[in-house]
Amino acid sequence: MYDRIKDKVIIITGASSGIGEATARRLAAEGANVVVGARREDRLKAIADSVTGAEVLFQATDVTKPEQVESLVKLAMDRFGRVDAIFNNAGIMPTANLSELHRDEWQQMLDINIMGVLNGIAAVLPIMKEQKSGHILTTDSVAGHVVYPGSAVYCGTKFAVRAIMEGLRQEERESNIRSTIISPGLVSTELYQTIADKEFGEQLRQASEIPGVGLSADDIADAVAYAVSTPDTVAVSEVLIRPTQQV
Ligand code: NDP
Repeated sequence: MYDRIKDKVIIITGASSGIGEATARRLAAEGANVVVGARREDRLKAIADSVTGAEVLFQATDVTKPEQVESLVKLAMDRFGRVDAIFNNAGIMPTANLSELHRDEWQQMLDINIMGVLNGIAAVLPIMKEQKSGHILTTDSVAGHVVYPGSAVYCGTKFAVRAIMEGLRQEERESNIRSTIISPGLVSTELYQTIADKEFGEQLRQASEIPGVGLSADDIADAVAYAVSTPDTVAVSEVLIRPTQQV
């Protein structure tokens, strides 16, 4: 348990499953007020209904729509009057070789993985500048450091997000607004369902469930909780977390 998380107001996107859901549950268990968004409202409601001892608000949110992300932030402001942190976590990974020309998937990855993060930053930055405090966390990936065949566009989005977050850190370091990049390796979640090649997706899913080959979403939630728990004089710029056996 971390003392400094209690009563913080924390917004999480992509919170209907996987890393976002685990983080919402973890931060709520630490006593935070959590506001969760994703497209599947029924999944968000189930999370809110099952959490006891902390307030969890939810709203259907598509991170590619700036007005929906702003509305999620407004939900937090209307109820709590401030936003201490946002975790920009929504993302998809429909991997395929470039030669397959999956143009629609390329566009979706740019829209969700990059613009979704920028929409989150844009929705909270004016508020955090006014508050003179805030913490912006974003799920990146080991794929933001290393390029894998079949994942060129996905890796491109994660390289871009790391650049954006590092730029944010540099620009806002004197505004008391902290930035943290969370970069997981293979994690056992529903992410592999977005891969068109079902056989490859299933292989990844099975590998992700082997301890030491894949991490659990709770492992990543631990890292987010640590970053959020640090005092505002400490900037945890990046947490890179691999399962032990990952190259
Ligand atoms: P999940 O598929 O379980 O979670 C993805 C989340 O993103 C879901 O809640 C989904 O909710 C949400 N999402 C997708 N599109 C949108 C959208 N347009 N608007 C709002 N929410 C959206 O996978 P993970 O938990 O693994 O993924 C979370 C993040 O972790 C992603 O950014 C991913 O790239 C990153 N990551 C994952 C790794 C892994 O191995 N699993 C490794 C490294 C990074 P809904 O469909 O309801 O909108």
